[in-house]
Amino acid sequence: MSYSIAIDGPAGAGKSTIARAVAKELSFIYVDTGAMYRAMAYYFLQQGIAENETDKIKNACQHADVSIAYKNGEQKVILNGEDVTPYIRSEAVGNMASKSSPVPEVRAKLTQLQKDLAAKENVVMDGRDIGTCVLPKAQVKVYLTASTHTRAMRRYKELLEKGQSDADIEKIEADIEERDYRDMHREISPLCQAKDAVLVDSSEMTIEEVVKKILSLVKED
Ligand code: C5P
Repeated sequence: MSYSIAIDGPAGAGKSTIARAVAKELSFIYVDTGAMYRAMAYYFLQQGIAENETDKIKNACQHADVSIAYKNGEQKVILNGEDVTPYIRSEAVGNMASKSSPVPEVRAKLTQLQKDLAAKENVVMDGRDIGTCVLPKAQVKVYLTASTHTRAMRRYKELLEKGQSDADIEKIEADIEERDYRDMHREISPLCQAKDAVLVDSSEMTIEEVVKKILSLVKED
């Protein structure tokens, strides 16, 4: 049987950095499920669909074939045969992902893909509903969070490093709060801590400390 580590938490908690490092340490596959929701959202934006056009989203979702591939150990998201990894990181795509992810047809399609992957491989999978819905039997579950301000500061520094000197910390913090609210209050698979997940607050922790903590849970298991 394959081994699964589920890492859930709000935007900007450091899930992808931590999950990638844990996967590398254990030679597991890292699965970034947010990237799959982003690829779908990118498709909807390309089709000129607005975030409140739920019927169009339901319909378009049937024509969006999302899959993942690995190149030099890095996850690539493939949308209808095209590698869209470089195009899915913008705020616009992130917001559309958060607005289209509550649509049941979108969730059903991507959840199945995620379950299939975890059935075949040892995975570290990160997202919002991995421990609660996608992999309820994961051997290790972590709910990774950090204060809103810490998460906004991390995002702000990331943007500055990318050369975006007009990044606005207050706007970033407001966006994060709005996105958390939507992810936590939607009807299907809302973001919440699974009963058997270990809570890790990374506000005052280094990346190395968080990785070590998660690896210790694997060893205890
Ligand atoms: O993690 P990331 O910011 O890339 O995710 C983008 C959006 O995709 C989230 O705000 C959330 O609405 C959605 N998502 C989800 N379930 C997951 C992963 C992401 O609903 N497992």
